[in-house]
Amino acid sequence: MRYYSTRSEREATAAEAIARGLAPDGGLYVPEALPHLSEAALRALCAADYRARAVAILRLFLPEFTETELTRFAAAAYGENFDDPAVAPVRALDETTSFLELWHGPTCAFKDMALQMLPHLLTASLKKCGERRRVCILVATSGDTGKAALQGFADVADTRIMVFYPHGGVSDVQRLQMVTQEGGNVAVSAVNGNFDDAQTGVKQIFGDGALAARLSENGWFLSSANSINWGRLLPQIVYYFSAYCDEVNAGRIAMGDALNFVVPTGNFGDILAGWYAKRMGLPVRRLICASNENNVLTDFIRTGTYNKNRPFHVTASPSMDILVSSNLERLLYALSGSGEETADYMRALRETGRYTVTAPLLGKLQSEFSCGFCDDDRTRAAIGAVWRTHRYLMDTHTAVAYQTLCDYRRETGDQTPAIVVSTASPFKFCDHVLAAIGGSADAPGVQLIDRLSETTGIPAPAPLARLARRAVRFDGCVERADMPRAVERFLA
Ligand SMILES: *Cc1c(COP(=O)(O)O)cnc(C)c1O
Repeated sequence: MRYYSTRSEREATAAEAIARGLAPDGGLYVPEALPHLSEAALRALCAADYRARAVAILRLFLPEFTETELTRFAAAAYGENFDDPAVAPVRALDETTSFLELWHGPTCAFKDMALQMLPHLLTASLKKCGERRRVCILVATSGDTGKAALQGFADVADTRIMVFYPHGGVSDVQRLQMVTQEGGNVAVSAVNGNFDDAQTGVKQIFGDGALAARLSENGWFLSSANSINWGRLLPQIVYYFSAYCDEVNAGRIAMGDALNFVVPTGNFGDILAGWYAKRMGLPVRRLICASNENNVLTDFIRTGTYNKNRPFHVTASPSMDILVSSNLERLLYALSGSGEETADYMRALRETGRYTVTAPLLGKLQSEFSCGFCDDDRTRAAIGAVWRTHRYLMDTHTAVAYQTLCDYRRETGDQTPAIVVSTASPFKFCDHVLAAIGGSADAPGVQLIDRLSETTGIPAPAPLARLARRAVRFDGCVERADMPRAVERFLA
């Protein structure tokens, strides 16, 4: 299978696409065609465990990788590091609603599903491309990605990882998760500034040719672990198939019945993986894109105009506080079939902050996607209501999706069985969750972990419960201008 850039349609192999991340023309890599799974293949998946399901899907897209390699990667990525043997278990709420829990990995958020796999795919891809230098991953994070990337790359041979986060700009729990990270190849630093400062700093480092040359002489090159890399998107297709199989195995649907998925969306990576699964033959009726008050995508799917010129809201679901959903570019390319058209939209976005898609493209989009959004008040109300009625505890991101599903069902009457994609443990956002179920949230985040556990009788995930007792390893803070020097020191 070959890969193409969404902008110039230049070709690459799977290993090249993963090793490069971004295409040389600034576009994203997409597979030339989507493999189709027959019903027999789907039945075979139903009989397999999560690791075998992952191998079966990944190998369709990665011809240069052997089944033995992929089996080894899946065993390492989805093993004891997950606290549930099902890896991504599905929990039924009522007759037609289930949650797909993607937060049983080491950092308690769904980014583990991809970032536990990416280091294996990336290091193997670099070898296949003949790269001799070692790779240093640089990440600017607003919270979840930094920790998940650290955990994924910790002690991976021939790699290092350095994470920058905005000083005072991440939650107490998120900061402690990062600064207590173990591993001999990791570094974490605060940046004096906000998330944009940290991200701009990292982008400048990537664009610094002189720095790259100096690092290269010492055998290093820099790469990124963000969600534009095909190696991060691909592992996410697996859990849509896995969830479907689990619903069949539980007798909640019959093989061939359609499901709806509702996905709490930020960068559009998670829901795009669901659309790929649908195009590969998974019986999915509608993909419902759920947003918080930063509802750029709701407006886009309703009107065909993407417009990021609007106020930015800091919400209770911070991992969805995004105004530019970079993975949407892959969908635009697939639906328009044109690199030129996609490049035009992206240029308009860069220059004016907005673009409007053609009527045929909007028609295709609306034939598969629905959308909705939910503000913080309704998010908290949903957490409280589901807790009181079902004794099921949702985090804020999951609650946005759940409430959007309720709205969708009321507006459309579509009662197709639905899966709510649950992206974080409620213990990661204790303050909002406690407040939502009537508790008090007047203490630092780590203390609230115990309080939420006592209030609900639900044990906190082990990695979070241990947090308060772990030693802080990284207490440094740099000015933005000093970030390049911090990277050079780390790699010296
Ligand atoms: C990253 C994240 C999301 C958004 O996922 P996208 O792939 O960026 O759309 C939703 N919820 C949580 C908890 C996340 O960490």
